[in-house]
Amino acid sequence: MIAFREEKDDNTSPDAGDIYVHYMRYALQQAEQARQENEVPIGAVIVKDSRIIAAAHNQREQLKDPTAHAEMIAITQAAGSLGSWRLDDCTLYVTLEPCPMCAGAIIMSRIPVVVYGADDPKAGSVRSLYRLLEDPRLNHRCVVVNGVLATECGAILSQFFQAQRALGKK
Ligand code: ZN
Repeated sequence: MIAFREEKDDNTSPDAGDIYVHYMRYALQQAEQARQENEVPIGAVIVKDSRIIAAAHNQREQLKDPTAHAEMIAITQAAGSLGSWRLDDCTLYVTLEPCPMCAGAIIMSRIPVVVYGADDPKAGSVRSLYRLLEDPRLNHRCVVVNGVLATECGAILSQFFQAQRALGKK
């Protein structure tokens, strides 16, 4: 984060791609936390002014709540932290492409930038099945950055499901 704030007059300062990777690693840490809690390993963080104001992971099983996706919990945390439902100037990082519910919450909270890792061909509503965050018919649109640490973000999920299947066979 310090490097991000450094002012440099040459062109060696970290570019946007480095910043995306930097924060996606925190989202991956959250996914790892979910895995340790035997939850589907998806993590999210929300960043404002180079500061992480929310960090959450999927807790659907523990909370017995179908809406307890990483993004939903992070959005609620961030709104609490800012004291506002509007998450202006925030960037959401999430390891997996958001589903329709989370894409809806992103629109409702007016998050301007969404960075995600792996594509979700089964439920992804940002690029894969729908492009909800870029639909001109809606009153809010986001800048979308996809594929950041996609391999790592996808691997933790596929390893989790492989382990689940192996357990099921016992
Ligand atoms: Zn979701």
